[in-house]
Amino acid sequence: MSTRWIYAFDALEAASERCGGDWNEVRGLLGGKGANLADMTALGIPVPPGFTITSDACNAYLNVGENLPVGLADDLTAALKIVEQVTGKTFGDPRNPLLLSCRSGAKFSMPGMMDTVLNIGLNDGVADGIAKLFDDRHFALDSYRRLIQMFSTVVMGIPDEPFEETLREFRAKRGVESDGDLFEDDLESIVDGFTKIFRNRTGRDFPVDPMEQLTMAVEAVFRSWNGRRAIAYRNAAGISHDLGTAVNVQTMVFGNLGPDSATGVVVSRNATTGEPALDGDFLINAQGEDVVAGIRATRTIEDLKREMPELHAQLERYAGRLERHHRDMQDIEFTIEHGKMWLLQTRNGKRTAQAAVRIAVDLVSDAIITKEDALMRVTPEQVEFFLHPQFDSGTKAEAVKEGRLLTVGLNVSPGAAVGIAALDADLAELWAKEREEPVILVRPETKPDDVHGMLASAGVLTSSGGRTSHAALVARQFGKPAVVGAHKIALDLEARLITVGSTVINEGDWISLDGTTGELFLGKIQTTLPEIDDPWLMELLGWADDVRDLDVWTNADYPADAVRAFKFGANGIGLCRTEHMFFDQSRLPIVQRMIMASTDADRADALAELLPLQRSDFAGLFRAMDGKRVIIRLLDPPLHEFLPNQDDLIRMTTDLKIRLMRARDLAEVNALVRELEDTEHILAGVEALRESNPMLGLRGVRLAILLPEIPEMQIRAIFEAALQVLEEGITPRPGIMIPLISDSAELDPMREIVDRIAVEVLGERLHEIDFEFGTMIETPRAAITAAAVAETAEFFSFGTNDLTQMTFGISRDDAEKAFLMDYLRLGVLSTNPFDTLDRDGVGALIRSAVEAGRAARPGIHVGICGEHGGDPASIALCDELGLDYVSCSPLRVPVARLAAAQAVLNRTDRADVEANPPEELREGVFANAG
Ligand code: ADP
Ligand code: MG
Ligand code: MG
Repeated sequence: MSTRWIYAFDALEAASERCGGDWNEVRGLLGGKGANLADMTALGIPVPPGFTITSDACNAYLNVGENLPVGLADDLTAALKIVEQVTGKTFGDPRNPLLLSCRSGAKFSMPGMMDTVLNIGLNDGVADGIAKLFDDRHFALDSYRRLIQMFSTVVMGIPDEPFEETLREFRAKRGVESDGDLFEDDLESIVDGFTKIFRNRTGRDFPVDPMEQLTMAVEAVFRSWNGRRAIAYRNAAGISHDLGTAVNVQTMVFGNLGPDSATGVVVSRNATTGEPALDGDFLINAQGEDVVAGIRATRTIEDLKREMPELHAQLERYAGRLERHHRDMQDIEFTIEHGKMWLLQTRNGKRTAQAAVRIAVDLVSDAIITKEDALMRVTPEQVEFFLHPQFDSGTKAEAVKEGRLLTVGLNVSPGAAVGIAALDADLAELWAKEREEPVILVRPETKPDDVHGMLASAGVLTSSGGRTSHAALVARQFGKPAVVGAHKIALDLEARLITVGSTVINEGDWISLDGTTGELFLGKIQTTLPEIDDPWLMELLGWADDVRDLDVWTNADYPADAVRAFKFGANGIGLCRTEHMFFDQSRLPIVQRMIMASTDADRADALAELLPLQRSDFAGLFRAMDGKRVIIRLLDPPLHEFLPNQDDLIRMTTDLKIRLMRARDLAEVNALVRELEDTEHILAGVEALRESNPMLGLRGVRLAILLPEIPEMQIRAIFEAALQVLEEGITPRPGIMIPLISDSAELDPMREIVDRIAVEVLGERLHEIDFEFGTMIETPRAAITAAAVAETAEFFSFGTNDLTQMTFGISRDDAEKAFLMDYLRLGVLSTNPFDTLDRDGVGALIRSAVEAGRAARPGIHVGICGEHGGDPASIALCDELGLDYVSCSPLRVPVARLAAAQAVLNRTDRADVEANPPEELREGVFANAG
């Protein structure tokens, strides 16, 4: 049996049968555009008649050295006959000519494929015929010159310039702006000029035989599959090279036949806001490409409603029908010919994050998709987008027009930032504080030393570095908008200048960057605030909460963070790092006094001063999370972190000694001596605490065991705070968490302190407070001995940052500077284990620890804290591991709520929900015919 190369638009049933009813296969055979044209025809939507030449035909053509495969020429003639019968027109017959368009369309829409050629079938005779038939010579000639121009450039690859030049000359001669205003005589001369250009450039005459025009166009589409641009795109997008492209041949309809004709593009819902109303542009008396080309100012679809209300209503009906059929917002091309509406294309429309959310939710209200579908339609990145300030689109467009778009770098951390440029981290911090203006830190690249400046800045810009550079990682971690690798900018750190091309920016000048797109602008661009109170997002996240199994908690160190996280939907605090409270400028001196105390009494004094401060911190957290678990981790870092840097201290003492030698009067000498003594005292303390590997030294539970006064103070503060808020009518539910254990025995002295102080502080009211005692699991040994640990610990919180470091034996800061990026580039690691939880190593440790912990203590609470808690892929792993909760930074809570729901919906073994038919297998592929 010979292969069937062609399917008419009304032969979807046959094509589908050939593909075993698989819509995905049908799209492969007919291409996306062809399949949709056939589909629309089957839905009874007016589509100009035509047919699709299959992608198989394209492959066959390319395989046999660019010769039409056997049978295709005959099939083409036969298919054309049918179109002639349906339309009552004849290809090449001047009395009633059929004109055609030739449109490429592969399975996936891809740039690089051949452009559409319109008006195929015109020659001198046919043009005359059309002029008579429509009584419009202008229209006939305009269509003819368009054919020659498009055929020359698209099919023959002649540059557009000579054609445009000719048009320019004639417009100038007539003094008109638009080609449509040229006279018939002009057009006649233009047609002549165009055929001459064709002859000069190709060495042959413009083909006057319509069939030859069509065949040449079809072959050119086939060949464009192997064009350079198309191949490059497929390589980049990971599209297979053996799919081939289909070709659609379609009866022309004309939007340029006068005031009752038009052409345009609409989306079935607003692509920016998601509002459920048609949105788009159209032009009266124009042909398809005019709308996108931007030659004439288009009009909005609102105008269509006013001027052609019936056609608008019809368009609305078709859009609704297509939306229901495709179960998504549609992007539709239409043409009105003498008051009759034709649809030429439909596809799922592109949209902003806001629109994606609203459309998904509205489609559920309209009973077009299920809530589960809606949850899968929105990506975690889109949710994240709501949490960053964004540029006002109007102001941004204006800035582009004014030429203020300087360059585009890598869009590594979304959101908009406006600020004054600062070229080093210290200055960024200083300006942010003292000038009270937002700052953008601009560096060649960033290092761990720059983090304080990054934190103080509204955004970060670097001229080098990639998606996983330090700047990118840190910016994402802290939700700072960032553009990195903007290599067109040159930094002069001496002259304190940034140059981009011919633009020079002084340090302190205003710049704006868009981390979502990578754009860098000169000057200020207005921003709009994130809208977590977006009602559609709230609704969608509510559905996510119903679906997900993981609880989402937050890492919050301060009451203000906790309040924000609660608003974002956090159901508890998984990690409060108490050391952050110690770093506070007003407390640091007390903390230092506590560390440097030479007697127990001095230390007790300092701790007594810290107690009320900690108590009020904790009370604030309990209030923000009334009735929810608040896990407070006891002091974790090594003490030297609270003291000044050793090198600085040495420099200071040297400096003081020199000044002392030069000092003349006694008062000055005395003052300097005192200062020197203090500094040397601190230096001695720092030297005493010095460790060659502090991260593996005296910290966490080890410190608590050696200096039990510290955990005693913290635990007392926790219980006192609990008692205090209890009296206010709040329900505090503290969790006391011990960091960095490697053996269960380390928990015993801590448990003893907790039990003792609980009784001491709470007395009678002990039973009124639901508190838990638990531990971080962040060393491999703690994970391996989890059964013993669970004897004492009532909850496990996997500290996946440290657990990853210790499992890999990699220090994160050192690795990201030295070799981690190379590992990723060389493919030694496929993902950064600090971004996405490592399944095989760290994940395996967690899995066995959870099992052992649950066996030893049924119902033990397990979760993770650490950055992985906000990463969708890691959340999916936590879901699979059966954890109770993930805890992440406040800003990532909404993202985590969605990701946790998607993890459930993506489970392959899900028996609880009836699977939705995948979009490819939509019912009604050939339903609703007629
Ligand atoms: P693209 O994929 O670049 O949008 P299309 O094949 O959709 O290319 O066509 C380009 C323009 O030509 C569109 O505006 C389309 O509506 C219009 N067009 C294509 N075929 C016809 C036709 N048969 N009659 C009228 N306009 C057409
Ligand atoms: Mg199109
Ligand atoms: Mg840790």
